[in-house]
Amino acid sequence: MSNHFQILIIGGGNAGLSVASQLLRKNAQLNIGIIEPSEKHYYQPAWTLVGAGIFNIKDTEHEEKDYIPKNAIWIKESVVTFVPNENKVICQTGNTYHYDILIVCPGIQLDWKQIKGLKETLGKHEVSSNYDYNFAPYTWEMIKNFKGGTAVFTNPSSPIKCGGAPHKIMYLAVDYWRKKGILDKCNVHYLSGGGVLFGVKEYAKTLADVVKKGNIKTHFGVQVLAIDGNEKTITFQTKETETQQINASFAGCQLVKTQELNAPATITLQFDLCHAVPPQSAPDFIKTSELADANNPYGYVEVDKNTLQHMRFANIFSLGDCSNAPCSKTGAAIRKQAPVVVANVLSVMANEKPTASYNGYSACPIPTQYGKLMLAEFDYTNTPTMTFPFNQATPRWSMWLLKTKILPWLYWHKILSGKA
Ligand SMILES: Cc1cc2nc3c(=O)[nH]c(=O)nc-3n(C[C@H](O)[C@H](O)[C@H](O)COP(=O)(O)OP(=O)(O)OC[C@H]3O[C@@H](n4cnc5c(N)ncnc54)[C@H](O)[C@@H]3O)c2cc1C
Repeated sequence: MSNHFQILIIGGGNAGLSVASQLLRKNAQLNIGIIEPSEKHYYQPAWTLVGAGIFNIKDTEHEEKDYIPKNAIWIKESVVTFVPNENKVICQTGNTYHYDILIVCPGIQLDWKQIKGLKETLGKHEVSSNYDYNFAPYTWEMIKNFKGGTAVFTNPSSPIKCGGAPHKIMYLAVDYWRKKGILDKCNVHYLSGGGVLFGVKEYAKTLADVVKKGNIKTHFGVQVLAIDGNEKTITFQTKETETQQINASFAGCQLVKTQELNAPATITLQFDLCHAVPPQSAPDFIKTSELADANNPYGYVEVDKNTLQHMRFANIFSLGDCSNAPCSKTGAAIRKQAPVVVANVLSVMANEKPTASYNGYSACPIPTQYGKLMLAEFDYTNTPTMTFPFNQATPRWSMWLLKTKILPWLYWHKILSGKA
């Protein structure tokens, strides 16, 4: 195998395989290499459904080899660094690969360690996270067996993949407990590092109604510091600074410790169930590379937000969760980014200016209860961009079917093969 490729793709996940397939559909003669270390490929959007007990975790995992496009070369290695001035990447094995065009899409890094104790307690002591294949099934065990008490759902302040996932599972859990007849015994708290429930006001209104109906207490500007499974405690900082205010917001909970000497106050709360989402950032090998945006605290690849071309290296593109394009990080966004990258890569190869433009489109399918879902679609300006000829802010059964049946099928049969 030659170590030079016309197009070298880093990461054979949602973005990498979509782009490789679409490029080869345009020109089957292209010489494409995909560097991807994992034998398995995951359909992560279904992990929310696994946590809600309606999807089999095994169906979210397929063999990577079955989805690598047949005219591409799979290099089963991990990239450790980039040498962009020499058009070269270096892998953990020490092997180096050269390219004319580089497409960078190794996804996002889950920074579990930023929450003390979380990694150690995941999957036991009623602490789980749908952000890991191994623990999404345990989320369902917790929800199913919950008999009432304090249930905590966290969301970090960093950008994350699928910004809706931390609260999607909360709405489904609340609906399950309502149907089980125990909701009045549940004290549900949403601890979010963000400032609002949802950034697009047309959709936020629907969610505010769901929160009210479920008697969910929301807290914003919260930073989770530690989770102790043995003690069943969560420690976090909150903007609420006065004891009276804190006691009112967490009425009905057992507050183990409140330290309000300096704002923000630090609170330790007893929980009976905790669904945690870790802070996230670019993979470390991206952060420390020349490709990273030095002004981005999370170290994402620095691209033009419309052409997705690197700001400093004209033969490098990036898409998916690892780029600094200020969109919501989802597979839905990748569906619109991939054709833009394909068109612009082909332009650069033909010595033309890249003119295809991505408008920040993303989508967040949010189940508001079992059997009903709101499909939020929007762009860089947070303007709703609805596909269907009805008001998508109203949760519907048809959109539930889209999420639970149609999208998983489309992913494995059309999206990864570049047909959709
Ligand atoms: C719980 C959850 C719910 C979600 N729900 C939705 C949803 O409803 N709708 C939606 O659109 N999106 C959703 N998403 C987000 C969606 O899954 C991601 O946005 C999408 O998978 C990102 O694609 P990607 O190719 O950028 O990264 P990934 O698909 O994560 O792929 C990255 C690939 O890069 C590889 N890689 C990593 N390091 C290296 C290295 N050093 N060298 C080479 N390769 C490397 C990895 O092995 C991996 O295969 C959800 C995600 C989660 C976790």
